[in-house]
Amino acid sequence: MQLEDTIKLDQSYYMNTFGERLPVQFTHGNGAVLYDSNNKKYIDFIAGIGVNSLGYNHPSLVEAIQKQAEKLLHCSNLFYIESQAKLAKILSDANRGGRVFFCNSGAEANEAAIKLVRKYFHDQGAPHKYEILTAQNSFHGRTLAALAATGQEKYQKPFEPMPSGFKYIPYNNLEAAEEAVTENTAAVMIEVIQGEGGVIKGSTEYIQGLEALCREKGLLLIADEVQTGIGRTGKVFAYEHYDIEPDIITLAKGLGGGIPIGAVVAKGEAAEVLTPGSHGSTFGGNPLACTAGLVVMETILEEDFLDQVKLKGKFFESGLIGMRQRNSIIDEVRGIGLMLGIKLHEAIPGKEVVQKALNAGFIINYAGQNTLRFLPPLIITKEEIHQLLITLEGILMPYFWK
Ligand code: PLP
Repeated sequence: MQLEDTIKLDQSYYMNTFGERLPVQFTHGNGAVLYDSNNKKYIDFIAGIGVNSLGYNHPSLVEAIQKQAEKLLHCSNLFYIESQAKLAKILSDANRGGRVFFCNSGAEANEAAIKLVRKYFHDQGAPHKYEILTAQNSFHGRTLAALAATGQEKYQKPFEPMPSGFKYIPYNNLEAAEEAVTENTAAVMIEVIQGEGGVIKGSTEYIQGLEALCREKGLLLIADEVQTGIGRTGKVFAYEHYDIEPDIITLAKGLGGGIPIGAVVAKGEAAEVLTPGSHGSTFGGNPLACTAGLVVMETILEEDFLDQVKLKGKFFESGLIGMRQRNSIIDEVRGIGLMLGIKLHEAIPGKEVVQKALNAGFIINYAGQNTLRFLPPLIITKEEIHQLLITLEGILMPYFWK
């Protein structure tokens, strides 16, 4: 079907929650390259918003999914599932311990984590401890509780009243976190690098300080690794850069390499809270999704894979830093590994830059605070990064002179 026909159908029947879409329909891809219905080639620097971690047409992922599809797509959690058990082990080992609950998305993983926190304190006879501190400018998902956890009023306003039990603290401000704790506080939920908020890194003192605060006050620490996890930053989980040990981590996006899957990994006493009947999901952790998750995890854990992510990330970052030194319209280069962003001067129309990059055959994205965000497939090559850097500087150049 031609793009124009898809647009007509979409405009008549699709519930438009995404505003104006970019006028492209992709038909297939290979490596970090996507092709549209006119066979135009694009190098992808957003990877389905951090999802296609192994890029497109990855041989092992495709083969495993094909084989699994021939055998068994789904069978329900009433039965044992080999790939689920194996994926739970690999995630637990990577996290240096813990049990895993599987679901289908980041919002669902955070919902499960929120329920886990509540039940943890109920089980301890302290139901008054229910409040979770989350950061201003955070993003934790669109279901009601995940939205209530999201410290951005603009997403919440039309759906008020929000479920109660969340308090928003300024990011990278430890003192404010300490002051926010009351006898009702149960947990802190944090993105160690805020993604949707504009690729903002938590400082080491802040993230380590939050962990210390949780230990001192008996609170649970939840790291939302939905965007930062599964190798994105050059470590399996971004919290590892901070040398902390969260009680709970939440995962989704890149874990399935394109097949929907979410997960919660909880450690210590927190691992024993979600008991039979207390939570569940029909699709969560089904054979197809877990097969995909296993291939992704096995691939990123291969020798050298994460070192390559780090090297490519450094190469990318230094290219962006060089661009910033030459051009005053870039205020800041942010992020780590292959989760990078550049904050443009507020006068630069970020959305226009994204469109121009698309015309030039590069898919980039625009996140909070006039920031261009780059989340390429982890298998992207240095050469492809180099091509983006050259093209992007050419696109930004005319704005330098204005
Ligand atoms: N948490 C973080 C940090 C995210 O970036 C996102 C999505 O962007 C979510 C949660 C929600 O994930 P999902 O869209 O899979 O529900």
